[in-house]
Amino acid sequence: MVFLPSMKYVEDIDIKRLAVKLRPSGERMVKKGHPWIFEDSIVKQNIKGRAGDLVIVYDTKKNSFLACGLYDPYSPIRIKLMQFKKTAQINEAWFSTKINDAFQIRKPLLETDTNSYRLLFGENDNLPGFIADVYDHVLVIKLYSHIWFPYLNWILPNLIAVTGCSTVVLRLSRLLQSKGETYGLKDGSIIYGDLEKEVVVFKEHGVLFSANVIKGHKTGYFLDHRHNRKKVGELAKDKRVLDVFSYAGGFSVHALKGGAKEVISLDISKHALEMAKENAKLNNHDGKHQIIVADAFEGLQKFIDEQKRFDIVVIDPPSFAKRENEVSRAKKSYARLAGLGAGLVSSNGVLVLASCSSRVVAEDFFEISEEQISNSGRAFEIIDKTYHDIDHPIGFPEGAYLKCGYYKLI
Ligand code: SAH
Repeated sequence: MVFLPSMKYVEDIDIKRLAVKLRPSGERMVKKGHPWIFEDSIVKQNIKGRAGDLVIVYDTKKNSFLACGLYDPYSPIRIKLMQFKKTAQINEAWFSTKINDAFQIRKPLLETDTNSYRLLFGENDNLPGFIADVYDHVLVIKLYSHIWFPYLNWILPNLIAVTGCSTVVLRLSRLLQSKGETYGLKDGSIIYGDLEKEVVVFKEHGVLFSANVIKGHKTGYFLDHRHNRKKVGELAKDKRVLDVFSYAGGFSVHALKGGAKEVISLDISKHALEMAKENAKLNNHDGKHQIIVADAFEGLQKFIDEQKRFDIVVIDPPSFAKRENEVSRAKKSYARLAGLGAGLVSSNGVLVLASCSSRVVAEDFFEISEEQISNSGRAFEIIDKTYHDIDHPIGFPEGAYLKCGYYKLI
């Protein structure tokens, strides 16, 4: 193991090996390569497990190796799988391979004028609940599970070597902050190097942004829409743009940099809009930037009542279906937003509709959106439909969440 003097090492944590067998339905999922084993799927377990213990799943009939993963006593997803079909030693070399594989996938992105990317996307990169985002020279790790503490000393030096980052910030999910052992590590701990300022400036296809890596949502910014923001920027020359659910102005700032005449960022959070203002100021542009603090549904209706029109309307709401029983309401909200948006797009203008709810699949989302645009009396052409950017690979069905439709309204 390489020793890095300025790294905060975690105390040695004892790891046990567990052997489990599953119910047929659980076993079928594992054979398909699904990374989640729910607690009620486990029928046999040799010893009691603790967070991060290594678990080997055996075939009930043949007694052969099926998969291995880590034990999580704090989640209904009791075992999180990392390795399927072939046995492997889960050691520093194994992590190094996974991190290098992940980096290889992202390489084409780094050949663009971009220095911000997601290096590890949890399950989709075989490391369940482990997120690693890079903002220029700062690596932000966000953990959603206790399983990772015993392995951080192996993982961190590899992440630092691959990314070349000089600082690493650790962020912990709400669950990790409220339950279980975190070995002296806190949300916002600097675990490698120094952080001069908690707001870090970075580039996304030539456009400058900033993220508060200590206090911001998730790791400080939403990297996932990069490709869509670029596209909106390319469409924006001399246009009037409305960016609804704008957060820190991802779409707004790309539009301004792309030559938009006027951009309105609308969000319910005043703080997010202040970030959007700051982000716009980081870039040279001649457009007018206005922010509006409002509920999106009310704000859109108000614009309709005032008979406002925009050349481009972007609607990118938060996930409306965090739970299965919220799906039908989420679909209704998507429909309402598509209808409101359609009412605000000028003739031959573009409506951009996005969804980040994995429970509402792309096919359904596009169908709902298109039906609603038609119902609002507008004829339309589909310009494009996009899915994930390359730094958000899809490794299992639940990993697919982002979709975005571009519609030209006649
Ligand atoms: N489009 C953004 C990401 C959107 S995140 C980007 O490209 O980065 C979702 C945003 O929706 C958050 O900023 C949140 O404050 C905002 N939001 C949540 N509910 C809202 C509502 N009812 N009306 C307006 N904004 C809302």
